[in-house]
Amino acid sequence: MAPPSRCLMKPILEIFPVGAFQCNCILLADPVSKEAIVIDPGDEVERIVERIQHHGLKVKSILHTHTHLDHIGGTTELQKQTDGRVLLHKEDLFLYESMAMQGMFLGIPLSEIDKPVPPDEYLKDGQEIKAGSLLGTVLHTPGHTPGSCGFFFPKLQEAGLLIPGDTLFAGSIGRTDLWKGDYHQEIDSIRKKYLTLPDEVVVIPGHGPQTQIGRERRQNPFLT
Ligand SMILES: [Zn+2]
Ligand SMILES: [Zn+2]
Repeated sequence: MAPPSRCLMKPILEIFPVGAFQCNCILLADPVSKEAIVIDPGDEVERIVERIQHHGLKVKSILHTHTHLDHIGGTTELQKQTDGRVLLHKEDLFLYESMAMQGMFLGIPLSEIDKPVPPDEYLKDGQEIKAGSLLGTVLHTPGHTPGSCGFFFPKLQEAGLLIPGDTLFAGSIGRTDLWKGDYHQEIDSIRKKYLTLPDEVVVIPGHGPQTQIGRERRQNPFLT
């Protein structure tokens, strides 16, 4: 029997709610080239690495929707274990570099307060994300944090996959009372960058269940 053709092999997509805040860490990979992207490795690095090894993947990049502690807690350890390139938006660097302060504020004792591994590259609005045949775009959506970004993969799922971090949740939006958060900016970002996407786009937020753009446009009390 002939091997399955390239275009019929489904991309690998795994979601792990990790750590005390159950941040949705996402593993995305091209099953043919085995190139992978990890988004928001907040904690439980062994669990993420176990899945990477299970699929025999090579991590190309470690992306961050933003740099609140629950999204970056495992970044340095994952980088050491996989050698993936670390990417985040420059306007979130101040938070990335103050993990201990965030931990104290959020009541999470950090056993090891090392300096985090420096980023390899800063994310920019409109930048292309690539891993094998996976292709996505960076959408800079300030508000929850100044450097918050969403990642949009137009060919994943039926009509596209959006990973908005803590900017948009099923039926809610991200809090803006933390460091340099801005409510009006967040609403503006969501309207301009996310609500302009098709209804059927699947959304995997930074926490909690999946949703779709159309459902949020119609039912999210912060957006209607
Ligand atoms: Zn957050
Ligand atoms: Zn979060």
